[in-house]
Amino acid sequence: MRSKIVAGNWKMNKTYSESKALVKELKKAIKEVKLDNTRVIIAPPFTNLQKASKKTKDSLIEVAAQNMCKEESGAYTGEISASMIKSVHVDIVILGHSERREYFGETNESLAKKVDTALKNKLEIIFCFGEVLEDRKSGNHFKVVENQIKKALFHLGSGAWKNIILAYEPVWAIGTGETASPEQAQEMHAFIRELVAERYLSDIAEEVSILYGGSVKPANAKEIFSKEDVDGGLIGGAALNADDFMALIEAI
Ligand code: PEP
Repeated sequence: MRSKIVAGNWKMNKTYSESKALVKELKKAIKEVKLDNTRVIIAPPFTNLQKASKKTKDSLIEVAAQNMCKEESGAYTGEISASMIKSVHVDIVILGHSERREYFGETNESLAKKVDTALKNKLEIIFCFGEVLEDRKSGNHFKVVENQIKKALFHLGSGAWKNIILAYEPVWAIGTGETASPEQAQEMHAFIRELVAERYLSDIAEEVSILYGGSVKPANAKEIFSKEDVDGGLIGGAALNADDFMALIEAI
């Protein structure tokens, strides 16, 4: 049975001490929750990764990096490699977030290389994709999403898919307060699962968790998470506050 997942992407928020405080709050709160086939992941900035990983070792919270260099090592000033992430006992990385695509020039092609490097280093990947508003308005959203997935992931062999989590994040809904309706999310998630089933075996499509991301809040989470093909959420703003994040975990 595929896992339900609530993953918090902290983006470029939280100093070292703020991060420590939020991890502490979440760790305490999560003890009160019964997690049934549900994974809870947080993705703090790189400066907090080692501390968060150490502090959550004995809890049900998992830690992810928000990004990773496609190269293994060398003269890439300012970059962080897969093995560096692994060296602080972090086994998950978010790749392809729309902010990385928009502000840092990441493309489907460069992401395919990042995916390979991450998998080679035994990192599990939360792979993000989603259409911009113009694509949705012009009815191109399915084509765009298909292209993003095919170009970055469909060169992989079947065995790699146990380490892939998909995250559909319509760009027009990220940080805007605008959410895809539960029906729009379900429609796209079913389409994605079908794409994976056509390319691979249907068991792989059935096993892959597909998260929705885009202004998920305690007020709308239950309805979105209740959809058949929505296996949880990748959360930005609402992951920065322990009460809100815990409410999303309760919602799932
Ligand atoms: C995100 O950054 O992945 C995200 C979904 O952000 P928000 O929840 O703030 O829209």
